[in-house]
Amino acid sequence: MRQSQLFTKTSRNFPKDETALNAQLLIRGGFVNKLMAGVYSFLPLGLRVLQKIEHIVREEMQAIGGEEVSLPVLHPKANWMETGRFETYDTLFRFTSHYSKNDYVLGPTHEEVISPLAKQFILSYQDLPRYVFQIQSKFRDEKRAKSGLLRGREFLMKDLYSFHRDDADLDAYYEKVQEAYGRVFERVGLGEDTVLTFASGGTFSKYSHEFQTLIPAGEDIIYLCEQCRVAVNKEIIEEQNTCPKCGAEKLAEARGAEVGNIFKLKTKYSAPFEFKFKDEKGASHEVVMGCYGIGISRLMGVIVERFHDEKGVLWPASVAPFTVHLLELNGASGTELAHTLEKRGISVLYDETDRGAGEKFTDADLLGMPWRAVVSPKTKGKIELKARNSEKAELISEKELITKLSISNS
Ligand code: ATP
Ligand code: MG
Repeated sequence: MRQSQLFTKTSRNFPKDETALNAQLLIRGGFVNKLMAGVYSFLPLGLRVLQKIEHIVREEMQAIGGEEVSLPVLHPKANWMETGRFETYDTLFRFTSHYSKNDYVLGPTHEEVISPLAKQFILSYQDLPRYVFQIQSKFRDEKRAKSGLLRGREFLMKDLYSFHRDDADLDAYYEKVQEAYGRVFERVGLGEDTVLTFASGGTFSKYSHEFQTLIPAGEDIIYLCEQCRVAVNKEIIEEQNTCPKCGAEKLAEARGAEVGNIFKLKTKYSAPFEFKFKDEKGASHEVVMGCYGIGISRLMGVIVERFHDEKGVLWPASVAPFTVHLLELNGASGTELAHTLEKRGISVLYDETDRGAGEKFTDADLLGMPWRAVVSPKTKGKIELKARNSEKAELISEKELITKLSISNS
């Protein structure tokens, strides 16, 4: 990608009311743009990050049998009346049609849609289990939307729903999802900083689990067991102040951002929709359900909160918009090199703009590609390569560059 052709530009500025560091950096880099509190446009560079996260999540969901769908965002009131959540869901966006005077809901989550839908296809024990997921914008009327991508009023979520004949089958799948989530957070670079957190399981189950990434900007207080690296959330600490995994009594307060959440719904939603299956003997039972969310756009914000310095973002290679930021300086040309790298499957943001070295370096730091490659009259046919997370640059040949970047790319 030629930087001169990019739709966006970097900037020193961000909206005055934008207090979240993730949004400040992302706006300055032109990754996102703020339309209003909690609502952001994803621009070419930012969309590439979002899509990379999405791709990782999709692969891991498919690996545990998930089938992808896309459910409507616009819901009729009736479905939400069925579960009682039209009145009780505190961040529900509701509105009335001017023509029909019918009430609608903008989907904050999709149990009210998936349950009656699955009921049409899951009729007998032979149709179970099933796993369905989607990656889609959700809408919530959040009271405070001051944390940039961490809390949107419109945000991208992956929601997976599972359907089972009994609790044992749900329990086994729940474990699988937990492991798949571990792989997702590992792959986006947050493995070491993300802890499994015990949360309340509602009326049906002792616990549910959150995945909390430890960052100072996290909105949640959790209590971390330093012995086994799991945590409990606020609801749980009020009932027990020991680690639910190892029994340790020392739990340290920490700040976390909830990047994912897994929950055994059991029959909470199959009951109101009379969603039942017939067993081998023809007897009817309510379908047992689980639901599993990942905040895709929140993850992008969390990654920025975790990987940045005073100059800008440091994208983990797996989610970086481009692998390398190639800068040509003082009349040297990087065109051929950019072409060669791209032919090898190494994605390049190629800064061929007619600007001074200082500005180009500032951009490279702000935009945060894992590698910065410089060609200039001074590099004499070689390339000066520097990792974004290192101070040290090295002068290497084109061949060495390709080898290095190919490894980092895989
Ligand atoms: P929170 O406690 O942070 O409000 P939640 O319990 O309401 O989260 P869920 O309904 O379980 O969240 O949604 C699944 C995932 O979607 C969450 O784990 C989180 O990563 C993400 N998410 C929830 N609300 C938002 C939001 N307003 N903006 C961005 N991501 C969100
Ligand atoms: Mg919430």
